[in-house]
Amino acid sequence: MEESQSGSGAFSLPPEVVEVCDVAKRIVHKELLPLEPEYLPHPGHSFGLKETINLKSVFGDAVLDRLVGIARDTGLWYLMVPEKFGGLGLPMLSQIAILEQFYYTAVPFPFANVPNILYECQGDQIEKFLKPVVEGRMTTCFAQTEPNAGSDPGGMMQTRAVQKGRNWVLNGTKMWISMAAESDLMLVQAVTDPDQRQRGGITMFLVERNNPGVHIEQPGIKTWLSPRSAQYIVHFKDCVVPEEDVLGEIGQGFRLGQRWLTIHDRLLRGPYALGKMQRALDMSIDWAKQRTTFGKPIAERQSIQWKLVDMYVDLTALRAMTYQMAARADAGEDIRAEAGMVKFTSMEWGVRTLDHAIQIHGAMGESLELPLTLFFRHLRHGYIGGGTNEIQRMQVARKLLRG
Ligand SMILES: Cc1cc2nc3c(=O)[nH]c(=O)nc-3n(C[C@H](O)[C@H](O)[C@H](O)COP(=O)(O)OP(=O)(O)OC[C@H]3O[C@@H](n4cnc5c(N)ncnc54)[C@H](O)[C@@H]3O)c2cc1C
Repeated sequence: MEESQSGSGAFSLPPEVVEVCDVAKRIVHKELLPLEPEYLPHPGHSFGLKETINLKSVFGDAVLDRLVGIARDTGLWYLMVPEKFGGLGLPMLSQIAILEQFYYTAVPFPFANVPNILYECQGDQIEKFLKPVVEGRMTTCFAQTEPNAGSDPGGMMQTRAVQKGRNWVLNGTKMWISMAAESDLMLVQAVTDPDQRQRGGITMFLVERNNPGVHIEQPGIKTWLSPRSAQYIVHFKDCVVPEEDVLGEIGQGFRLGQRWLTIHDRLLRGPYALGKMQRALDMSIDWAKQRTTFGKPIAERQSIQWKLVDMYVDLTALRAMTYQMAARADAGEDIRAEAGMVKFTSMEWGVRTLDHAIQIHGAMGESLELPLTLFFRHLRHGYIGGGTNEIQRMQVARKLLRG
């Protein structure tokens, strides 16, 4: 954890942000790490669920309330919220440096979880949707993928929305939607102009989960990520959505989806991996120093030392890249391709680092008493979720070849 702060120092974080990093670090060590032994083997948490839901289902209301209280008192609840809506107004680089501290542990910390594109809300949408989401009274999910539309949603999306009077009527099926059954509000993409598709023919709708046209298949889809499902198949059957619940402009929903993915599902994978990689390295160093075979700690063996060095190299390189891309985003640059680069390197280098950590720990590395296998699975998922590594590489290649 020391390293994460000296690393960010190279990017001249303002002293008040370094202070917040220290606060975050204290919360992690005092509040979250002591909860890990109960959290890790518990069947109640799930990948893709909002932090508050995971905390409540594992620890119950008392722990959840305590952590939400800490988040609110320190202002960290609003870490990623713009100042206009009560947030800290921190640049992306500062947010990333702070988030990295929290991803050191598997136990989630409750933040306001607002998809950045929800700030497009206009007029009554602000009171009806945006503010309740900021305050944690409403939860959201993002519904883009379909059974036959994953990597190519623009070309393959089948869910249709047709205007009837002052309403839109949605029909179609979405799949793999994280938290669909646990959210109050769905951000749903549907084709409104089949000739234009991703170039002006896909629109984003704000659909309340209790809309009678929404049907969620139960149980959800089982994956290796967690014992409890949090991904679902969702059918829209003559689902009537009032025209005032269109998010952004008609036909611009694909662009909005890309904006959500660029920040939430790509750039923010950087700190998500960095925290885990730092933890894996710290744990591996401690373990290697105390685990003895053939009369010597394994830390004295070159094959172990080289693994530690490789882990450190990946961590240092990833931190430099993530912070640099965040600084470029703050400077207003278009970093869509580079955010994809952060995403796939975070996941691939993160998996490589966790793989070394598990190996250094031997059998203990596979125990659910330690967070290593959970971190490994969650990082490996990132090769697929939020746009696969191949698609991210394709976008970077496009940018390079365009000159
Ligand atoms: C746990 C989990 C949570 C998810 N949560 C959500 C969610 O909340 N909301 C949501 O909308 N979606 C969600 N998804 C869906 C996810 O975004 C898609 O699975 C992902 O975009 C890949 O689509 P696909 O699975 O259809 O793969 P496909 O598109 O079928 O691709 C299959 C393979 O082919 C490769 N490939 C495809 N095209 C090319 C090409 N042109 N060149 C080279 N290789 C190519 C891919 O990279 C991949 O390796 C989730 C998925 C999972 C597993």
